Amino acid sequence: MHIFIRDVAGHVGGSVTVKGWLYNSRSSGSLAFLELRDGTGFIQAVVAKDSVSPETWQAAGSLTQESSLAVTGIVSAHPKKINVFELQATEIAIIGLAQEYPIAHKEHGPEFLMDNRHLWLRSKRQWAILRIRDAVETAIHDFLHEENFVRTDSPIFTPNACEGTTTLFSVPYFDLGEAYLSQSGQLYIEAAIASVGRCYDFGPVFRAEKSKTKRHLTEFWMMDAEAAFVGHEENLKIQEGLVKAIVRRVLEKCSPELAVLERDAAPLQAVLEQAFTRFTYDEAVAKLQQMGSDIKYGEDLGNDDESLLTEDSPVPVFIEKWPRTIKPFYMRIDPENGARVLNDDLIGIEGSGEIIGGSERENDFDLLLSRIRAEGLPESEYAWYLDLRRYGSVPHAGFGIGLERMVRWMAGVEHIRECIPFPRTINRLRP
Ligand code: ATP
Repeated sequence: MHIFIRDVAGHVGGSVTVKGWLYNSRSSGSLAFLELRDGTGFIQAVVAKDSVSPETWQAAGSLTQESSLAVTGIVSAHPKKINVFELQATEIAIIGLAQEYPIAHKEHGPEFLMDNRHLWLRSKRQWAILRIRDAVETAIHDFLHEENFVRTDSPIFTPNACEGTTTLFSVPYFDLGEAYLSQSGQLYIEAAIASVGRCYDFGPVFRAEKSKTKRHLTEFWMMDAEAAFVGHEENLKIQEGLVKAIVRRVLEKCSPELAVLERDAAPLQAVLEQAFTRFTYDEAVAKLQQMGSDIKYGEDLGNDDESLLTEDSPVPVFIEKWPRTIKPFYMRIDPENGARVLNDDLIGIEGSGEIIGGSERENDFDLLLSRIRAEGLPESEYAWYLDLRRYGSVPHAGFGIGLERMVRWMAGVEHIRECIPFPRTINRLRP
């Protein structure tokens, strides 16, 4: 019977077949130890020369790293380690004998590994990260559905930029001129809330800024959520609930993966235990200046500022109510302070940086139009967006979370390029 390695505990004493790849092997005299992986986990198959046919013994000896195979054997519990199982092999069928595999079990440089990304994905470390990525995505979908959000995806080809065109990739688009690859689906889901109330999109977005940091990709996956009849305060609550739901899911479902990554789970557990910290932008700048940062009022926070502000915090930190001068036109002006907008950035702990950007949106037609004009944006391109304020405008708010930033934090990985199967950065387009 073919089983997945993750289900092996239920088959102790039984004969099963595992199909997968040879991760590693060693032999000592009349015993061969094959470490198999099938995507759900890893298991060691023990081949004893005296207990198998000469063909199977010979097959065990000829297997190369990363060959694909099916191993049939009896499941046994490891004599010393709890919850570890082995396969006492009775038969081996080689499916695809691998040529000499370029990635050996030793240190390789990052460029070499990135050039071989299509193969590097098979390593234990990348396997663990891919699975954590899946858990983060699934947690997002589940949480949002529980909160009555409906998935309504946004287009990737767009005619205009959400916030100007300087950081956009352009592509020729038939007779219609230039199209731009979307950097956020927000404006579109703002339209969809008037149909379904609360909605989200989840897909790739593109940024043409020349950021060469460990936190920037040129193509990354973003989930934008938007909700009708939600103001700034509730927006923050939803974001905190979502982040906690992701952390909870990773802790519940990904212990083997966290162990592979040697990722200490304690800081993640602590995130669940108290409310997230909140600073206004003004409080954050004052605190940063006290701590020695040279940031001035009216400036965006740098990476170092974000790290400084969160270094002693066990929980992520919201920075809310930023100067309107450095934020986009669609953010609602704070009724209590016309120089500020009702927005937030959520800064993760452990050096993870900004993971969410959100705001309540301007829902007043005249104010929105005046801000579009003041910023010199092409009014005609925003006609449909203005319609949303013409026909049954409602208070609403939303936010965008960067999937890879979240995965990077959960997995405790230093560089974001490991958090997406095939990363695109300013100097990498292949494989
Ligand atoms: P940053 O200041 O870190 O460059 P941003 O202010 O441009 O980010 P937003 O436009 O608010 O970010 O995007 C929403 C979220 O998308 C961010 O909070 C972050 O999680 C993620 N994100 C933004 N840019 C990138 C990028 N280049 N690569 C990966 N994730 C990103």
